[in-house]
Amino acid sequence: MRFLLAVVFSLIFLSAVTAENKFDFATTPGKLPKEVVPEEYAIRIAPNIVELTFAGSETVKLNVQKPVTKLVLNALEMEISAASLDGQPLLKKAIALNPAEETLTLTLPNELPAGEHQLALKFSGKINAQGQGLFYARYQEQGTNEKKIMLGTQFEATDARRMFPCWDEPSFRARFQVTAVVPAKFTAVSNMPVESEQKMEGGREVRFAVSPSMSSYLVVLVAGELDAIEGEQDGVKLRVVTTKGKAETGRYALESEAKILHYYNDYFGIPYPLPKLDLIAIPGGFGGAMENWGGITYYESVLLFDPKISSASTQQNVFAVIAHEMAHQWFGDLVTMAWWDNLWLNEGFASWMGSKCTDHFNPEWNEWLRRSAPRNPSRRIGFPKDTAMQSDARSTTHPVQQPVGTEAEAGSAFDEITYQKGESIIRMIESFLGEDVFRDGIRKYIAAHKYSNTTTADLWAALTEVSGKPLGEIAPGWTEQPGFPLVKVARQENTIKLSQERCTAHFANPPALEWQIPLTYAIEGQTVPNSFLLRSKTADLPDEVPNDHAVKLNVGDAGYYRVEYDEPSWKLIVGRLGNLSEADRVNLLADAWASVEGNHKPLSHYLGLLEKVTEKDELAVFDQIGDTFAFINRLLVGDPMRPGFQEYARAILRPAFDRVGWDSKPGEPAKKAFLRASLIRNLGLLNDADIIAGCRSRFDGFLIDPTAVTPDLRPEIFAVVGRYADLQTWETLHKLGLKTTSTEEKQTYYEALGGALDPKLAQRAVAIALTDELPTSRASAVLPFVARQGEHSELVWEFAKAHMKALLAKQDALGINSFAAGLFNFSADAKDAGTLEVYAKSSLPPSATKAVAKTVDEIGFRAEFKQRFVPQFKSWLEHQANETPR
Ligand SMILES: [Zn+2]
Repeated sequence: MRFLLAVVFSLIFLSAVTAENKFDFATTPGKLPKEVVPEEYAIRIAPNIVELTFAGSETVKLNVQKPVTKLVLNALEMEISAASLDGQPLLKKAIALNPAEETLTLTLPNELPAGEHQLALKFSGKINAQGQGLFYARYQEQGTNEKKIMLGTQFEATDARRMFPCWDEPSFRARFQVTAVVPAKFTAVSNMPVESEQKMEGGREVRFAVSPSMSSYLVVLVAGELDAIEGEQDGVKLRVVTTKGKAETGRYALESEAKILHYYNDYFGIPYPLPKLDLIAIPGGFGGAMENWGGITYYESVLLFDPKISSASTQQNVFAVIAHEMAHQWFGDLVTMAWWDNLWLNEGFASWMGSKCTDHFNPEWNEWLRRSAPRNPSRRIGFPKDTAMQSDARSTTHPVQQPVGTEAEAGSAFDEITYQKGESIIRMIESFLGEDVFRDGIRKYIAAHKYSNTTTADLWAALTEVSGKPLGEIAPGWTEQPGFPLVKVARQENTIKLSQERCTAHFANPPALEWQIPLTYAIEGQTVPNSFLLRSKTADLPDEVPNDHAVKLNVGDAGYYRVEYDEPSWKLIVGRLGNLSEADRVNLLADAWASVEGNHKPLSHYLGLLEKVTEKDELAVFDQIGDTFAFINRLLVGDPMRPGFQEYARAILRPAFDRVGWDSKPGEPAKKAFLRASLIRNLGLLNDADIIAGCRSRFDGFLIDPTAVTPDLRPEIFAVVGRYADLQTWETLHKLGLKTTSTEEKQTYYEALGGALDPKLAQRAVAIALTDELPTSRASAVLPFVARQGEHSELVWEFAKAHMKALLAKQDALGINSFAAGLFNFSADAKDAGTLEVYAKSSLPPSATKAVAKTVDEIGFRAEFKQRFVPQFKSWLEHQANETPR
């Protein structure tokens, strides 16, 4: 049986109606009244880097559409010292800040008539340690011992209001003209190029050009002692901006930026609209990347690549993150979702576009497959598909499009459902319409809505118009209802009978739902896969399929659904595993594991596949198995069965490692290097004495000569060494971590430190969370690491409880809701669920409720799963012992 990826669809449609309307400013959700619309801001910010405060002033051109007696806009954690309207000062008592609502209300002395007006404000605020609003990052300068400070901003979702009063909702688009007063040695970067600079006392005033119409969350200001390298592509000035001494490590990013810009100019059909695009590396502030228009900010380790110390997986990650953020320059910045309930439009699309672009330029990386399994999650930006499907099968899931009322809810929307389910839906729709038709629809959508806002309904409308297929009927089932389908396959005579139900795990009485499912399938003996729109609860495949011909659904793992086969169908597929593509083998493994998790199939259903799929050295296959083993290994902490499980798991993984070996061979494909690294990490985790000894001796070699260990294997080797470290080794790792000025290396060393099994070392690792050894955003991330990797949940919880206030102060808007719950995510002990719930009631803000509920459910699932797993695994081992004498 041979499967190709080309997909042709034959379609018949049901009529269903989407609930959502197209974008309309007046009815867009939000807190601010819609009568007053800002058109252009001129903002001047003067930071004080000693006091960590800033003084600001702004004028805002307003378009007042109906007479009003007050102005309501957003402002938070600032003081307003003066306000005037059309040159007339307002009285102090007319200025009211409401911290709970995050608003500023200006009560006007007289009714303000409709028309153009000008608001002027003077204000002051603080520069934050965490990546919220205007923030600072302290770092050690490359090649010097000097501690430096730089400034950056992080405004998405709702933190522009911490730097300047504004209509801080995405549909209030306006032009922005930013001016910054910075110390003489500082370079300042914003969305637009510098228009003028002038020396003044204590520094320089840098004035940037006026931006096109955009949303406030996309404004950026970065300042510090910076270097840059430059290039040009399609008439756009490109730069990578770093702290002093690091610019050359931005070379790979700059080359990638040029390629990607050209690719997107073509794909979107509208050339990148700003005169320049800066990619800015910040050694702290926040952990990811942010698509500010014209000035994308990155945590250093997802932008900089130094061939001497960076691993191949860092290189891959750098490309993928740049591709994601640059896709936002069109999808998100030029055309912006109207409200946060449609965040998926931004994130699902950019995730998909980033993967497509990464795969286009680097086909050898197998980007789509690498995005499937939840491998090494601490290093990846974005979420794997399997993680999204696991969350989406639970009672705590939510639709991709979900109501967002408060700022905290906007912050919570950045999750695996929004990103990865969103990406999967887009991918499924692209393969459903065909690549060219889909792209034409996107071009139409961008052209129709440029410099404006949209809802999901606008996207479906453009795709429907171009394709002639009613996307508005098929797609909303995937975005407006939670969950996803399980497709069951049964054989009767020569007919394949299909049925769908909701796919769930650990979910009592789930509401029944149905989807219109664009299925793909391949029949043994046919060279091209087929497609079929399953639009009801049950249907037959149109083809006659002889009883001895295998059928595989979800060809190439491109669909967002699970499949379960009846016994005869399963046997036929398993008998032909060797003929399937890597993607199809991984898809079968993932579906089999999901069936075990959902308690539809016994454990043997999954384990029975393992020996049959591990003959070839396929990265994605071993990643899926490695992740599953890591999950089980974590489940069995403290259980007498654990050594037996580890022995079994090592026996599955070890032959592949013996084939790939420790050392790379000249000219071997990148995937081999990734596979080697993945196997070392997983075998180390599973207590493989030989691997542990091998890692130790390589680490010793590294200490004498760092070039002795290839950068590709350093994260894995150091992680294994750290896990089984004694005091002296731990301190050696710590010294290395303190010394390096590379954010990537620092991360590698501190992850190794956090994974130590020795409780005395774990005690020292948790203390790092309160130091400034790591950037603010990374410091507290040590704790979940010690809890999960180091297996010290109790110790971590005692420490976290004692220091919760200080730890929460280090979180940004995205981290604050989930930090405490994140310390329990790996527990299978029902008692932990109780502990978290009680603590949340007394000591966590209401905005943490969702994350707490999700973790409580996760613990419940793991506890229940463990009860099922232990006896089933025991009988699997007994069965194996009887079958094959050991
Ligand atoms: Zn994004």
